[in-house]
Amino acid sequence: MLQVNLGKRCNQACHHCHVDAGPARTEVMAPDTVDACLRVLAEHAIPVLDITGGAPELHPDFQRLVTTARGLGRRVIDRCNLTITQPRIFQHLPAFLAEHGGGGGLLPYYQARGRRPPARRGRSPNFRLPPSRT
Ligand code: SF4
Repeated sequence: MLQVNLGKRCNQACHHCHVDAGPARTEVMAPDTVDACLRVLAEHAIPVLDITGGAPELHPDFQRLVTTARGLGRRVIDRCNLTITQPRIFQHLPAFLAEHGGGGGLLPYYQARGRRPPARRGRSPNFRLPPSRT
């Protein structure tokens, strides 16, 4: 398995986050490092690409990573927090992941009765998409 952490940017800011990811974090994997990961995958018999973050779907190369790995015949795990599928520009993600057939590593999505998810999960309900994606 090759596990790739695409960065600390996330739409959530969970108290329990072990990488302290969140909307204000700016550290993301550089495109040439993404390319290097794909070269490693192409040149070695690694059966599974495990993509994590932060919310890996926020990385601009996320879909390229998934489609390239699937094109190489590798299984893909997306460690998705599910809430990232709520903003309109990410609502295609479930269909995208289904189409590209990778096993989804869907993490629990907690919602207390009568409470909005950000109040339950984290300290910042103020996630905003970057200007280029709105
Ligand atoms: S959704 Fe996951 S990566 Fe994002 S802040 Fe919560 S625990 Fe961290």
